[in-house]
Amino acid sequence: MVGAGSIALLQTLLQSVGDPGSEVVYAWRSFELYPILADLAGMRSVRVPLVEGAHDLPAMADRITDATRLVLICNPNNPTGTVAAREELRKFLARTPPTCLVALDEAYYEYAREPTASSGLELGEAHPNLVVLRTFSKAYGLAGLRVGYLVGDPRVVEQLRKACLVYAVSGVAQQAAVAALGLEDQLLHRVDVTVTERRRVRDALVAHGWDVPVSHANFLWLRLGDASAEFGRWCTGKGIAVRTFPGEGVRVSIGRAEDNDAFLAASAEWCRREQRVALINSAKKVGPYEWLAQPDQTGRED
Ligand SMILES: *Cc1c(COP(=O)(O)O)cnc(C)c1O
Repeated sequence: MVGAGSIALLQTLLQSVGDPGSEVVYAWRSFELYPILADLAGMRSVRVPLVEGAHDLPAMADRITDATRLVLICNPNNPTGTVAAREELRKFLARTPPTCLVALDEAYYEYAREPTASSGLELGEAHPNLVVLRTFSKAYGLAGLRVGYLVGDPRVVEQLRKACLVYAVSGVAQQAAVAALGLEDQLLHRVDVTVTERRRVRDALVAHGWDVPVSHANFLWLRLGDASAEFGRWCTGKGIAVRTFPGEGVRVSIGRAEDNDAFLAASAEWCRREQRVALINSAKKVGPYEWLAQPDQTGRED
């Protein structure tokens, strides 16, 4: 099923299954639109905390009740970039009653490089209650044209089609999406460049003592806790746009090499000025961070 972006398909999905009093389970923090779409569909949100930035699928399975109509799994997760392993997903699906739909939101699928990561498409045959959402907005760079798609059991899709807005995807958007599929090699080469930069930037941050989960999307998640807002303002002041989630963390998108270098320079300067190392580390192991806490080894001038 094709829709005006995968968000439109998600909305159709939630509105289709959401009766008053019904529940939707999703991890938190995850995609910021899930709670809004759940509210609009009149569903109760059941949020299951991430563990180390990743989905806690056993805990999510525990939260499924007779009232649960849908589980949303953002894989890779926005904004933390983590992926759920194939085996974990299989176990989760085995515990999900067939009357509860599971939607795997794979908006960042093309950026995942983890061999144990799974596409929901492989699991759909065995689980007719599973639907997979993909989009042309991220790796294909067509966000402004609004095209996404949902893959699922024909019986599920038939019901969803009754509830979606017809003619939502313009002719131009359809042509662009088809053309993009024809140019996949070129377009996905850009994804490889992003993946290489993602590794480089994360390695640099980790070497400087930052706590950054391995990401499988086109962004990195900096777990800054209470320092998030301040760091977000610091980046803005340096002309770098990041996404701040106050009290939790900051998501930084991977850009061109020179943009990433500007971000690395800004974050290194922030660390030096603020002597934030202790904060970055607060909840975490010390390990390679120790040297940062010793000013004479960091090249600090002030
Ligand atoms: C960007 C994004 C989408 C969808 O975007 P569309 O442009 O509507 O296709 C869906 N889920 C997540 C997690 C996203 O980050």
